[in-house]
Amino acid sequence: MLAAELALARVDVAIVERRESQVLAGSRAGGLHSRTIELLDQRGVHDRFLAQGKLMQVAGFAMNPLDISDFPTRHNYGLALRQEVIERILAAWVSELSVPIYRGREVTGFAQDDTGVDVELTGSRSLRANYLVGCDGGRSLIRKRAGIDFPGWDPSISYLIAEVAMSEEPAWGMRRDERGVNGLAKLEDGMRVRVVLNEPYVKQGDEPTLDDLRKALVTVYGTDFGVHDVTWLSRFTDAARQAASYRAGRVLLAGDAAHVHSPTGGQGLNIGVQDAVNLGWKLAQVVSGRSPESLLDSYQTERHPIAARVLNLTMAQTAAGRGDDRTNALRATLADLFSMDEPRKRYAAIMSGLDIRYDLGEGHALLGRRMPDLDLASENGRQRLFTRLHQARPVLLNLAEPSALDIAPWADRVERVDARYAGVWELPVLGAVTAPSAVLIRPDGYVAWVGAGNDYGLRDALTTWFGPPVAA
Ligand SMILES: Cc1cc2nc3c(=O)[nH]c(=O)nc-3n(C[C@H](O)[C@H](O)[C@H](O)COP(=O)(O)OP(=O)(O)OC[C@H]3O[C@@H](n4cnc5c(N)ncnc54)[C@H](O)[C@@H]3O)c2cc1C
Repeated sequence: MLAAELALARVDVAIVERRESQVLAGSRAGGLHSRTIELLDQRGVHDRFLAQGKLMQVAGFAMNPLDISDFPTRHNYGLALRQEVIERILAAWVSELSVPIYRGREVTGFAQDDTGVDVELTGSRSLRANYLVGCDGGRSLIRKRAGIDFPGWDPSISYLIAEVAMSEEPAWGMRRDERGVNGLAKLEDGMRVRVVLNEPYVKQGDEPTLDDLRKALVTVYGTDFGVHDVTWLSRFTDAARQAASYRAGRVLLAGDAAHVHSPTGGQGLNIGVQDAVNLGWKLAQVVSGRSPESLLDSYQTERHPIAARVLNLTMAQTAAGRGDDRTNALRATLADLFSMDEPRKRYAAIMSGLDIRYDLGEGHALLGRRMPDLDLASENGRQRLFTRLHQARPVLLNLAEPSALDIAPWADRVERVDARYAGVWELPVLGAVTAPSAVLIRPDGYVAWVGAGNDYGLRDALTTWFGPPVAA
């Protein structure tokens, strides 16, 4: 996703990936939340994902489904789609954007100086880059070599996850025990089984064996159902850690390299994609020399709190997932709470990523929030707002008199759209908000400035986000 964002901004970018191909062993993420689908829609590629997945209500908290079908978004649902397919679609897109992917190469180290980063690869090769972004997962070598701390919480539970065949009909569905949940579900072919089992003692690090899997099945179900033909067997935990800093000089982190946590709630891949969309345009502006390096500080300021909140909520859900009587009582209380509209909306918006508000100061409710995908009317006919974001460029949407706002010194960077919008301005959770006269929208779809009939504050916002004015 980051490579695509940079390529759209015409930055020379390359991906180094140690896997030889797109094949991803086993299933990890099971889909996309609403805000991630919106971001893909902002780039005009969401249909590629929707065509291969299944629209579903996927948001939930502590096993309570949270329906978002009444939310004011075109994508008032999630998408069930395996991570491998998500990665394939993203890879195909970046290839269309002519981004080279150096597959089968591993980053083994790097050295940064005042002007760039030398990146060492296997096979005595190296690359020289202005910036290096570690998108290299929870065990990130780049994070470690950059000397960035990864504080947080050790695991309280570990799980085995596997894809197998079973000679006996298994006990389909979920089974809760004192430590947490266990589950046996049909894989897409309807024959094989996805197994998730919590382990009696927290284990991490070593590779689980078929014997571990058999024993864990017997512990929970009293039988191993004749498990055989294991095509994937892995272990995950609820360890929750977050990089103390998302940047060390010319080295940045995104995705699991910056934060790891339990998969409960299905957040990891989603917030990783959203990190990339937050960072991409900022890094592009710094690389092009339009903005000072300090713009990159806002990446940490904006995205660190989002992942910190996810860590907290996954820990809360792990605690609420246990099966002892007291936790069962807590879950029943939560279920009652989520049957009420306001808690349901509030948590559904958090889990689907629709409630994000970056702290851009006091002001209109839209400031720092996601720009809704309005149906605009203009001289050129009707158009959705998101289509104006396809090129990942900032947009000044002027809903007042045409040419009321002069942005000539930023015309090389910022697109001005004169249009009309007659509908209601409605935000998730907040409801209807006052209609603005103009809105400055960042390439990531968040609102950087809101007009109230004049251009007060517009020049400052343009300078802060898109660099100083250029003399005509
Ligand atoms: C069981 C399970 C279920 C999950 N379910 C969900 C879910 O439903 N929803 C959700 O949003 N998230 C889910 N997640 C989390 C999701 O899988 C991760 O958050 C996501 O994969 C993180 O993506 P990433 O690109 O940051 O890191 P990774 O997916 O770990 O990718 C890192 C990449 O970097 C490569 N790499 C690593 N080191 C090097 C190196 N030195 N040189 C070159 N290449 C390197 C790796 O080969 C890999 O391709 C789940 C995770 C698990 C384990």
